[in-house]
Amino acid sequence: MTARLINGKAIAATIHEEVRRGAQDLRARGVIPGLATVLVGDNTASHKYVSMKRKACAEVGIESFHHELPATATQAEVLALVQRLGADRKVHGILVQLPLPKHIDERVILEAVPIGKDVDGFHPLNIGALAMKGREPDFVPCTPAGVIELLDRTGAKIDGADAVVVGRSNIVGMPVALLLIGRNATVTVCHSKTKDLPAMVRRADIVVAAIGKAHFVKADWIRPGATVIDVGTNPVDDPGKPGGKRLVGDVEFEPAKLVAGAITPVPGGVGPMTIAMLMKNTLRSAARARA
Ligand code: NDP
Repeated sequence: MTARLINGKAIAATIHEEVRRGAQDLRARGVIPGLATVLVGDNTASHKYVSMKRKACAEVGIESFHHELPATATQAEVLALVQRLGADRKVHGILVQLPLPKHIDERVILEAVPIGKDVDGFHPLNIGALAMKGREPDFVPCTPAGVIELLDRTGAKIDGADAVVVGRSNIVGMPVALLLIGRNATVTVCHSKTKDLPAMVRRADIVVAAIGKAHFVKADWIRPGATVIDVGTNPVDDPGKPGGKRLVGDVEFEPAKLVAGAITPVPGGVGPMTIAMLMKNTLRSAARARA
């Protein structure tokens, strides 16, 4: 049996189209959805990510307000910018691209983003609400929300499923686990100190790999028919590619494909969903600001 490929690129395109229609609707009612992007320093990958996000904004009809500060910017300067954007009525979402330069305390900056504009979902109050029964966060972090959306849109049954999340980071593993619990999965969260990882993964109907190690999850750890969501994006040498690198996931994809029931490829799985969910969160914020 070969697993069904979960086409994140196509699902993200559908979400972009839904957001585009929603943005059109809001514009017709006099609200222009707006996302502010804040980029500090000259990290090449960060520049690339922000430009992808701004391109997506342009495609779906969200206005983007880009702010770039030099790597030498002080924490007070970044803070002042975020506070100014927080008070700007044209801005419905604020995205501070991480990582920030080392001399700036990320926590201070992220906590300065008003919770109602925290479209990245990283504010501790949003994460806290995610962890509480009966509470809804204003915004769910984009990559974890994308993981759930992929499961939903491919018809995976989350309710009652045994789910194993490998990774417990603030930005991926932990919020994914909380979201799965909220959807009535029975969740095991694994990490670098987990005793017998293969045995844990073998129990799962749903595996989410968010480790950051190329091909770390082996095919024979996967229960036949399981749904596998691979969040990992790891550059590996490939002399045939421009720049001599290509991206692979955390799961040993080719052999795992022969065991799993459904699996995301890397690239083209979770990756495109992150931006799609950012667009969705921004639209939701704009719609709410209007109400
Ligand atoms: P982190 O490095 O913050 O977290 C990695 C997690 O993996 C940690 O919880 C760590 O455990 C765990 N881990 C590390 N080694 C092992 C091991 N040997 N066995 C079991 N668990 C282990 O990474 P992120 O969560 O930020 O990212 C994970 C991956 O997802 C990366 O490849 C990243 O590039 C990718 N990513 C992709 C996105 C997308 O849009 N597609 C967005 C964000 C991330 P411990 O806590 O014990 O250290």
